[in-house]
Amino acid sequence: MQWHADQSLPLLAISRAQGPWLHAPDGRRYLDGISSWWTNLFGHSHPDIVRALRDQLDTLDHVMLAGFTHEPVVALSERLSALTGGRLGHVFYASDGASATEIALKMSLHYWRNRGLPDKNEFICFAGSYHGETVGALAVTDVALFRDAYAPMVRGAHVLPSPAGGDAQAALQSLSTFLDVHHARIAAMIIEPRVQCAGGMAMHDADWLREVRQLCDRHAVHLIADEIAVGCGRTGTFFACEQSLDEAGEGWPDFICLSKGITGGTLPLSLVLSKPFVFDAFLDDTMARGFLHSHSYTGNPLACRAALATLDLFDRLDILARNRVWAHTFSDALASLAAHPAVRDFRQAGMIWALDVDTAHADFSRRYYREALARELLLRPMGNTLYFMPPYVLDDAQTALLAQGARDALDAALA
Ligand SMILES: *Cc1c(COP(=O)(O)O)cnc(C)c1O
Repeated sequence: MQWHADQSLPLLAISRAQGPWLHAPDGRRYLDGISSWWTNLFGHSHPDIVRALRDQLDTLDHVMLAGFTHEPVVALSERLSALTGGRLGHVFYASDGASATEIALKMSLHYWRNRGLPDKNEFICFAGSYHGETVGALAVTDVALFRDAYAPMVRGAHVLPSPAGGDAQAALQSLSTFLDVHHARIAAMIIEPRVQCAGGMAMHDADWLREVRQLCDRHAVHLIADEIAVGCGRTGTFFACEQSLDEAGEGWPDFICLSKGITGGTLPLSLVLSKPFVFDAFLDDTMARGFLHSHSYTGNPLACRAALATLDLFDRLDILARNRVWAHTFSDALASLAAHPAVRDFRQAGMIWALDVDTAHADFSRRYYREALARELLLRPMGNTLYFMPPYVLDDAQTALLAQGARDALDAALA
């Protein structure tokens, strides 16, 4: 999130939202082509989620989770664990993605301390990574704009070459060499499986991830999959890391972070899934050996209920299968945009499409955003990278409008 005054782009008030549409008080409407920062998977105000929330609000709004428990948090934990085939059977809850990152980092470090290896307390991330913007998460976020201003507060991590846009084999070799020398100091490595989203929609393939998992195993380094953006079906499978499992279904990361889409964009919720061996290292009567991360709203019943309703929609609408079909349709509809002479590196992973625009306009992103709005579209390029992360519910007319409007907006923005 950037907070700065931009006179050329006045704030846009939205008074209500339904399905993929955002409605403004002046009667204008905008098709939400990026699911409001990748959160509203089923569009806005989906009736199933709204109903579940109303019901929950009448039953139990909130109760502290220390010493108490409740049905939505138990049910959600069991559902999530089942989605990993029981391999990551424990869940810790917070409210925002950056906190999920911090919880995974803290848990990994504390695990090694409890196991008598306190020197394993450093972290690896990849060039161009984004894992959130609180002080701990900034340590593993390699986006200069977000990090430089706060550098004096941040304890940096090791930033290694990423596979995207470069030589994937060379990146693997760098990682291998680094771990050979430094593994005794490294607690964990954090990655965004398949797509580095905020870092410019940089994609890598699933085989690469499998090799990373093997290197972590060889060097006793935890693997944290930050699926805050790519989870919940965004790259084609429920978890992106499923694509790098072996035939026996093994090769899961040790931690998975989820947030953004898990409540269908209705309430803030984040969570960290972990394997039983991690949990076991904290089972102790001594307080200081337990995992310490107090959060007032942890496991909030309303947010958990919204997440359960979201998972129900995946089942009831067979969303992963439906998305596979729709993705073909949308890729076809984007053919003329992909063939535009200014377009470079058109790419796709599941329900994410991205392309780079070759332009001399330094303010391309702003120009494009404005032209898209003029065509009833919310599309917000990051620098020269235009991307689509549409909600999973577009009909044929909306699909055509998004593809055609995006193409027309490009010509207008380049003019
Ligand atoms: C958005 C995001 C985060 C941070 O989530 P917040 O809820 O904004 O704190 C972390 N990692 C990834 C990959 C993200 O896309």
